[in-house]
Amino acid sequence: MTIIPLDRTRTANGASGGTPVLEARGLTKHFPVHRGARRAVVHAVEDVTLALPQAGITAVVGESGSGKSTLARLLAQLIKPTAGAVLLDGARAPGRQRYTRQVQLVLQDPFSSLNPVHNTRYHLARPLRLHGLASGANMDTQIAELLERVALSPSFAAKYPHELSGGQRQRVAIARALAMQPRVLLADEPVSMLDVSIRLGVLNLLAGLRDREGLAILYVTHDIASARYLADVIAVMYAGQIIESGPAAQVTDAPAHPYTQLLLSAAPDPDRAEPPSLRGRGAPPNLIRPPSGCRFHPRCPFAMTVCANERPVAIEVAPGQASACWLHAKGLTAAQSRPLREPGTLTGPVTEAQRPQGPGEEKR
Ligand code: ADP
Ligand code: MG
Repeated sequence: MTIIPLDRTRTANGASGGTPVLEARGLTKHFPVHRGARRAVVHAVEDVTLALPQAGITAVVGESGSGKSTLARLLAQLIKPTAGAVLLDGARAPGRQRYTRQVQLVLQDPFSSLNPVHNTRYHLARPLRLHGLASGANMDTQIAELLERVALSPSFAAKYPHELSGGQRQRVAIARALAMQPRVLLADEPVSMLDVSIRLGVLNLLAGLRDREGLAILYVTHDIASARYLADVIAVMYAGQIIESGPAAQVTDAPAHPYTQLLLSAAPDPDRAEPPSLRGRGAPPNLIRPPSGCRFHPRCPFAMTVCANERPVAIEVAPGQASACWLHAKGLTAAQSRPLREPGTLTGPVTEAQRPQGPGEEKR
């Protein structure tokens, strides 16, 4: 079993044996934004520690705006962290070119990631040629092989993006990523834009890449039900931080953190196209001025005084499962554990203070 060290915990990754392929250590990303003459900072990702083991799928789950894509882009080295480091095989990640051969990002929208004027063959031949992985007569064999790995027949080489269904397009995008012979796939909401009926096929394709080829896969999603289906480990993200992580079945059957409980209570429905709604249950905070202490405390039905003042450390609540919540802490004083508000006062509509804000928007 794999243990993901959570924020500020330094749990050993001993159970899985060996060094994880890719690791985030204390990754932090602050985006400077301007509003008129005023400057502000969006605290998009804060002190995230995560390990991707070989032949494993790790899901990062959270509501829209929780920092999932920023984390994926940091791991892909498309953006530079404000603090923290990305480690490949336990060592500081190499320069971009060597790195992208090993770590490939697959995006949500296969329509915009494939060039409409080029056919599949072009999209797959390009990375193979650029990296000297195939040429001449060998090229067609390699392309057929790539298509086979994503369960498409060789005839798809001649097709243009508009001739493909959404699922087929996403398969081509995955084949293009595989052309580089990576060891890590970072998949940012890879099925969110696909028809419900074809999502499972693409998820099973990712599972096959893990099982047959030993890839380390990051599966980013807002849908905790699909994470449970696909992933070995789930890390739940809230307002830029990982608040709970552990074996997928454990986290979904026995969620420890109140936010994970809230996410699960939104009744995940695998057939629903829309993200589950937590409306009426508050909304994620403004990341320009994130709440003090635990970032979830303004929405938490169990919030105590300590939650508003101090950031909780992750505590192991079951083997491999850790949750960053003061409810798990022992030895709090009476003052620290005093409830912040009356029970039942959190069920009303979203208040102005809880309204999420876009980048550049700053509360007065
Ligand atoms: P998710 O993928 O979970 O929906 P994102 O990582 O896209 O979340 O965004 C996290 C937060 O960072 C959001 O508040 C978003 O508005 C902000 N953000 C993302 N990219 C930028 C950027 N380039 N400049 C400023 N703010 C950004
Ligand atoms: Mg995103």
